[in-house]
Amino acid sequence: MQRIGVFVCHCGSNIAATVDVKKVAEMALLEPGVVHAEDYQYMCSEAGQAKIAEAIKEKNLTGIVVCSCSPRMHETTFRNAAERAGLNPYMVEIANIREHCSWIHKNIEEATEKAVILARAAIAKVNLNAPLKPGESRVTKRALVIGGGIAGIQTALDIADAGYEVDIVEKTPSIGGRMSQLDKTFPTLDCSACILSMT
Ligand code: SF4
Repeated sequence: MQRIGVFVCHCGSNIAATVDVKKVAEMALLEPGVVHAEDYQYMCSEAGQAKIAEAIKEKNLTGIVVCSCSPRMHETTFRNAAERAGLNPYMVEIANIREHCSWIHKNIEEATEKAVILARAAIAKVNLNAPLKPGESRVTKRALVIGGGIAGIQTALDIADAGYEVDIVEKTPSIGGRMSQLDKTFPTLDCSACILSMT
């Protein structure tokens, strides 16, 4: 069984004005494996990261969920903070309750309900996560495109133009997909057969 900590960020009023962050933390505590939940004004600040590190050590956490902004913003920040505190960085999950929730809702009840759902989903993921180690493997720089419609054909051509070997497979006897069934195509109004013969 995991020992999960949940950290709910206010982002000043960015999240807290629309989401009841205390309720999200309270609800998170009811989820399986969650042994710690708290909210804080700016989770990515030094003080916020220190709170996370402290909880990891004191509560012997095996995974954490940060309910905050998009992982594009601070996933690395929180993974690094967790790693410094002795936790495998891949045991950190982000529930995006800002871009996916507070910024697109006006109703506090609805936004809070959605934030709780997003937090639950991230907690469920941590419950199934296993610590990972980064590694390297040899990669054969060659591509397989499945589907010989116009998108598949163009993709194969682009890959070949970039200098890589590419194979394209199509389940029907001819390539061209839906486009080959059309009379004219936008924007040139050429017949589709003419375009296909050029590709
Ligand atoms: S972690 Fe993200 S949501 Fe929280 S204060 Fe920092 S930028 Fe805002």
